This record gives sequence, C-alpha cells and structure tokens, in this order.
Amino acid sequence: MYSVRSFFILSFEDTTKGLYHKVFNLLLVMPMAKWKVWVDREMCIGCGVCASICPDVFEMDDEGKSYAKIELIDENLYDCAKEAAESCPVSCINIEQIE
Ligand code: SF4
Repeated sequence: MYSVRSFFILSFEDTTKGLYHKVFNLLLVMPMAKWKVWVDREMCIGCGVCASICPDVFEMDDEGKSYAKIELIDENLYDCAKEAAESCPVSCINIEQIE
C-alpha cells in the first residue's frame, strides 16, 4: 500500500521587473508505514476494552483474552489500535513500527 504526500515548494525569482514567486506542488508516492501489533496474553485480564474501542484489530477469544486478529496494520488502523493500547488497564498491548 502507498500513500500520497503533497509538499508545496515556494521559489522566488529576482528579475529585472521585480520579485516573483512560483509555487510548486510536489507529490510524493510513499510506502505506507506499518506497525506490528500483539497482545501479551499472560498479562491480559480480559476486560474487553480494546475490542470495544478497536474491533477491526482486537477480538476476544474463547479463553476470554484478547488477541490481534490483524497483526500488521497500516495508517488506516493505527489511531484506533493506539487508542486501544493507551486504554488497556494493564498496558499489555504492544505496537511496534516496522516500516
Ligand atoms: S484492554 Fe488489555 S486487558 Fe483488556 S482485553 Fe484488551 S488487552 Fe486484555
């Protein structure tokens, strides 16, 4: 997956008629950042907060513990996974950037 970033570059030119500026819009196609997500299941107390905040990434299993059903996430899911990790009462959700 790729994301498109837009940068504006301002260029000034000093000519005999005055100072002019040009604006260039530079579009860069960049690979999307990726993060690895995992739950330390030894620490998980099964409260379900993560699955309720970010059900696209976290799910409760038959043992009543959470797991990351998507282990590699991109920018589209990062904010919700991060909010779930910050809301976990025992801080057992790990998010590590890999790209
Ligand atoms: S919020 Fe933390 S403790 Fe609660 S279910 Fe999710 S991973 Fe487990």
